[in-house]
Amino acid sequence: MTTAKFTRRQVLATTSAGAIATMAGWPLTAFGSSFSVKDKLALTGGNPVRTADWPDWPIWDESAEKSIVDMYRSGKWYRAWGNYCQDFEKQYAELIGAKRCLATASGTTALMIALHAAGVDAGDEVLVSPYTFIATYNAVFAAKALPVFVDTDPETFLMDPGKIEERITDRTSAILPVHIYGLPCDMEAINSIAKNNGLKVIEDACQAWSAKYKGKNAGLWGDLGCFSFQNSKHLPAGEGGAVVGNDDHMMDLCTSYHNCGTRFGSIEGPSNYPVRGLNFRMQHVQALILQSQMKRFFSDAATREENARHLDGKLKDIPGIKPYKLVSGAEASAYHLYPFRYIKQEFNNIPRDKFLKAVQAEGIPLSNGYGPQNSDGLIEEALSSKGYKRIYGVKRLKEWREENVLPGNDQLCEESCTLYQSVLLGTRKDMDDIVNAITKVYENREQLLG
Ligand SMILES: *Cc1c(COP(=O)(O)O)cnc(C)c1O
Repeated sequence: MTTAKFTRRQVLATTSAGAIATMAGWPLTAFGSSFSVKDKLALTGGNPVRTADWPDWPIWDESAEKSIVDMYRSGKWYRAWGNYCQDFEKQYAELIGAKRCLATASGTTALMIALHAAGVDAGDEVLVSPYTFIATYNAVFAAKALPVFVDTDPETFLMDPGKIEERITDRTSAILPVHIYGLPCDMEAINSIAKNNGLKVIEDACQAWSAKYKGKNAGLWGDLGCFSFQNSKHLPAGEGGAVVGNDDHMMDLCTSYHNCGTRFGSIEGPSNYPVRGLNFRMQHVQALILQSQMKRFFSDAATREENARHLDGKLKDIPGIKPYKLVSGAEASAYHLYPFRYIKQEFNNIPRDKFLKAVQAEGIPLSNGYGPQNSDGLIEEALSSKGYKRIYGVKRLKEWREENVLPGNDQLCEESCTLYQSVLLGTRKDMDDIVNAITKVYENREQLLG
């Protein structure tokens, strides 16, 4: 399969939805700024805008099967025997423009490796975005470091560079910005604050393999960049990850750390195990799936980009719908998700979750974004652990709790709505279904009152 494939059943369902809509006078193709329609919402018993399915994820083809079976029959399943992981590393480095790439077991382990190589240690503080998948700060906790949240700019969904400096203490050792949903962070602003304060920068680019900022890919701006190849990501292999970087010594350290602390490159020592390390190695089967998935890279990215531009242009005209804003210098999001904000004041104060239910009932898989995870249980569990009390002291931990106030992030958590990346692999007509459904909900919002 090279493009999103629809079954015959799905095609028929699309046709019949169109027929029903035409009978109901629903102008599926006649969308424009003067568009206005009074119709019964699907949530209140009307006909949905759409009943067809959406593209599945992941998408694969038979071309990878022979190499996977050959590898299986060779018995060389582990990265020290055979070259599949090494080949993948070369291809990925080339693809995104990094000098070096280290394949890892997952994105979480990539972050743990990168933080270790950056020297982040027990007692350090790491400035991190709260609007992210929990793995970002779980990796900080794994280093026994303290994640200190920098507030989010609700317009960009990203770490607000203007809020970084107020969070720096004499224990801060690194900044961990997250290119969430594939939206590139303002890396020049972040790097200049890091430089002025002697901090390392580790990028969480787990959702952002093709995101571009000022001519260069996300993941290449900091000291090290981390990627994930978990099943939901753009380049999926079930599990998997990578650290990329241009500094040979740091990359050597990453390689050693991920391989039980063995000697590698510039890592010298009196023994074969001169440094600490764990086993975070990728398996060959992951590398082979990834090599095959990479063939879809550019065509999928182009489809997502084109569909996202179409949505950008249409959604912004619906009152109360505010698409993400790219930071200055950002050229392309990777669109792990397509995000926008829902401003309920424009929708007669209907709560976001009710809006989501109404759009979902129209046949559109719209979800909410991240919640206010800076108050998730795992954080209190870490802060009240024996180790954290011992390392940071009760006074710093109390201060941390008092400072854990993030109004920008709280606002975004209430407003954010997202479409998953494979939805963006659909057709132009699929995108118009999304716009039509949201418009229909807007025009008929009073049906959601009470
Ligand atoms: C997926 C993801 C991770 C973790 O990657 P895994 O491969 O699932 O361990 C970390 N950060 C972000 C932002 C992610 O989306």
